[in-house]
Amino acid sequence: MSILKSKPALILLACVVAYALPYGLNGYSIHVVDIAIIFALLAVGMGLVMGVAGQINLAQVAFFGVGAYTTAILTTHSGYGFWTAAILGIVTTMLVGLLVGLPALRMQSHYLGIVTLGLALGFVNWITNAKITGGADGISGIPVPPLLGIDLADEYMYYYLEIVVFAIALAFGAFVVRTRLGRRLRAMRDDALAAGAMGAEIPLLRMTAFLLASTYGGVAGILYAGLIRYVAPETFSLSNMFLLLAMVIIGGRRSLVGCVVGAVGLVLIREALVDFAVYAQLGYGIVVVLMVVFAPTGIAGIPERIREAISRRRKSEDVRAAELGPYLPEAIPADQASRKGADSGPALEISHVTKRFGALTALNDVTLTVEPGEIRGIVGPNGSGKTTLFNVISGLYRPSEGQVAGVGRDIGRARPYQLSLAGMARTFQNLRLFSQMTVRENILVVLDRSRTTTVWQYAVWPVGVLSNEHRLQAKADRILNEYGLTAFADAHPQSLPYGIQRRIEIARAMAGGPSLLLLDEPAAGLNGEEVGQLSAIVRSIRDQGVTVVLIEHNMGLVMSLCERITVLAAGTVIAEGTPAEVAATPEVIEAYLGDSTPDDIPVHVAPEVSR
Ligand code: ADP
Ligand code: MG
Repeated sequence: MSILKSKPALILLACVVAYALPYGLNGYSIHVVDIAIIFALLAVGMGLVMGVAGQINLAQVAFFGVGAYTTAILTTHSGYGFWTAAILGIVTTMLVGLLVGLPALRMQSHYLGIVTLGLALGFVNWITNAKITGGADGISGIPVPPLLGIDLADEYMYYYLEIVVFAIALAFGAFVVRTRLGRRLRAMRDDALAAGAMGAEIPLLRMTAFLLASTYGGVAGILYAGLIRYVAPETFSLSNMFLLLAMVIIGGRRSLVGCVVGAVGLVLIREALVDFAVYAQLGYGIVVVLMVVFAPTGIAGIPERIREAISRRRKSEDVRAAELGPYLPEAIPADQASRKGADSGPALEISHVTKRFGALTALNDVTLTVEPGEIRGIVGPNGSGKTTLFNVISGLYRPSEGQVAGVGRDIGRARPYQLSLAGMARTFQNLRLFSQMTVRENILVVLDRSRTTTVWQYAVWPVGVLSNEHRLQAKADRILNEYGLTAFADAHPQSLPYGIQRRIEIARAMAGGPSLLLLDEPAAGLNGEEVGQLSAIVRSIRDQGVTVVLIEHNMGLVMSLCERITVLAAGTVIAEGTPAEVAATPEVIEAYLGDSTPDDIPVHVAPEVSR
């Protein structure tokens, strides 16, 4: 899984081709290539924000424009040198990127698309009408960038400048994607709610995604200003935004190389079809629609789809073989077993919590205390408020009334990521694994406990990111091994049997090293043998000193595993005590089991099948 060893031969070949390319091109072709590289840079930025982070950004061409226009204005109006103007151009573009990213804090998907498109339109309007931007005529007379006496007015020489900048930008993008920031961005794309509950600061990550995209846009704009030395509104028009979108969708938005392929390919096709511009636009539109329908992962995604289809049978055999091997967690040696915070009060204290959804009261004056090191069961009929209680405890819902305290925090005021970083972990009733990431990556997302603010390391000290990466990978190996998941490390969760997915969710929750673990119906959908494994896993987790709260329908499991059980009915606690006490409470028998007697407690009350 080393980041650096990936295909060195291919990289060497790319370097040789990049170096030799201009020798085979005439003056016009090298111009086209210079333009293609600029679009490729823009497309990589789009790939990062849309494909990797899942944020719809239709303002990329405005970022491009801000970079180009800032450089143009500062060099021609204000008399700055080209490179000073360029640095100010990047800073300005990044600030604009943050501004454009602000709506992403409030809205997602097509709403975000519409807002960013509106901002891009506003930008084009502004440059077309403002005096400082030269209106529709644009700005000419941008100086040739000076560079160590190299004549950058020569488009062959300019090519080498561009290709070096581009190589650095692409390598940086790949570095981001494969390390902790990229994993968090992808986790956010796959399931923002789960990512938040696993410690990812969603608002900051969204802003970071726009910051990345705008930086690439700004760099592209500066290169454009230096190459053409003239800027005018039509370059930053919506038709170019659409072209860029087509590049990213056709090439494959989740792969940076795919974005580059799409960008270079479409620039070349556009040149070939320059006499048929109207039909070309129509053609791109049709191809984009076909891609979205038949190959949503773009050209870059096609090899993987083929590979997956071919290996599906073989993979399922692997899985079956691994499944047959009995998995049981190793018992924790007594000297390693610890009780976290055993003498620092309750692990979880819920007092008089009420949660209303409009007229519906899902939780009604719930009070319960869980002691450190306890395994607490929460049972109750479907719709009795169990999951809502977990959502309140994990910070997803604010209680309408009452207080919750745990992991050393006032939970009513904390955000899910803060609770996760403070030592709370949970699983979800309906499984919320990051579906486009491997099992190993799912775990790595949670292993990383750093704050998002530490992304400055990427810009200033990438070596720090890399050494941290080695530590995380080693820890991931340990967790995978501990939960018997090594054989599935590189598989995508949805290709695995349900029981294994449940186990991955527990392993992922435990990767954060929590002191309090919430399990929402972990046995739902498991077979008998897997329920046995689950029981052993939960015990071994408790033996590590973790407090476990478990919602479960499988009464056999709850009765055998939990020291105390809390029974909810219609949002109210109707009983609490040891399994024997609870099973003998008349209210419980009535509310939960109809009029059957305790002797008839079914071993397996049908689990909710609300997948
Ligand atoms: P359980 O997990 O015990 O089966 P839930 O906590 O999921 O029950 O649901 C309790 C009640 O609250 C149900 O009536 C459910 O429809 C309602 N409920 C849960 N979440 C929401 C929500 N986000 N908005 C409105 N109603 C909700
Ligand atoms: Mg539930």
